[in-house]
Amino acid sequence: MQDVKDITLIGAGPTGLFGAFYAGMRGASCRLIDNLDQVGGQLTALYPEKYIFDVAGFPKVLAKDLVKGMAEQALQFKAPLHLGEKVLGLRRESDNGRPRFIVVTDRDEYPSLTVIIAGGIGAFTPRKLPLKDVDRWYGRGVFDRVLDPQSFAGKRVLLVGGGDSAFDWAVNLQGVAHWILMIHRRDGFRAHHATVAQVQALCAAGKMELRTFWEVKAIHGGDWVEGVTIHNSKTKQEEHVAVDAVIPQLGFLSSLGAIAEWGLDIDKGDIKVASTMETNIPGIFAAGDITTYPGKLKLIATGVAEASIAVNHAVHFINPAAKVAPGHSSNMALFGQSED
Ligand SMILES: Cc1cc2nc3c(=O)[nH]c(=O)nc-3n(C[C@H](O)[C@H](O)[C@H](O)COP(=O)(O)OP(=O)(O)OC[C@H]3O[C@@H](n4cnc5c(N)ncnc54)[C@H](O)[C@@H]3O)c2cc1C
Repeated sequence: MQDVKDITLIGAGPTGLFGAFYAGMRGASCRLIDNLDQVGGQLTALYPEKYIFDVAGFPKVLAKDLVKGMAEQALQFKAPLHLGEKVLGLRRESDNGRPRFIVVTDRDEYPSLTVIIAGGIGAFTPRKLPLKDVDRWYGRGVFDRVLDPQSFAGKRVLLVGGGDSAFDWAVNLQGVAHWILMIHRRDGFRAHHATVAQVQALCAAGKMELRTFWEVKAIHGGDWVEGVTIHNSKTKQEEHVAVDAVIPQLGFLSSLGAIAEWGLDIDKGDIKVASTMETNIPGIFAAGDITTYPGKLKLIATGVAEASIAVNHAVHFINPAAKVAPGHSSNMALFGQSED
């Protein structure tokens, strides 16, 4: 059994990292637990090489560079970081009438006065192509993550999907891949208008092809993908296309896993929170992509704001005499500053 912390943060994505920074700034002890073996959540696991344009202070920043800066900021107060550990259970105990939580992972038990769930889209797995023998192709020409765009250099690539990720890769693999065909099962897209317009312009310029109402019917090859059969759900037309790589971007199957069994108020897989980021269980807060409330936006900017709200309210929960408002960091002795 580990020592008792004020705050245990589940998830070391951008939200959890910023929560750890804020806990340190408020003088609260905390720890971070994440089942991945690196910090950064989706940014590290799904799009380390992509640029992000909508984080304050950075006109343009690579996801992996943002994570580096966030980790440095988060870990300056030496919060213990437990990576490669999946949170499975939660026990609730009473410590002289005050709630105390024991966060149980697959390796250890972590007592804590409060818990902040920053589990993002949960323990996530990319949605696979709905084909019978698809598993044999993963890693042999079918990739649901692009970790290194250069691994597609000179390749004929089939992109499958109509969301942000598919459109982003259609743009980002330009000049890298030899040829890109993108197919989507309908003609509606779930992507930024600007990126859709960019892809349409690329198609008009003959630099790639986008086909709607087309789906993958079969994958062919020996040890590696050599081609696909695609079919049109409207015209029933079938076509064999020679490709070297297939990149399905079909979204994720995310699951809260064991966290869903903790008695939290959950709506369509997300945890309902109040404006204080508190869940229906006093002492358990949530922040970032895992939360829902009217007007919720799943973005890095909102996740880090929610992390600071959650931490400040957790601090107040632990010690009602502590103010919720943190004061301004620019005035804090902690950072070597003097008060105005
Ligand atoms: C391709 C792509 C591009 C994007 N581009 C942008 C963009 O340009 N701008 C923007 O603002 N947002 C963007 N986003 C969204 C952004 O990445 C998310 O809003 C952000 O990552 C949410 O951060 P988070 O910390 O709440 O969750 P996550 O990043 O999902 O991190 C959650 C962490 O919790 C861990 N975890 C989950 N369950 C457990 C468990 N049971 N035990 C232990 N650990 C657990 C996970 O391993 C993960 O590391 C993009 C997303 C994608 C997929």
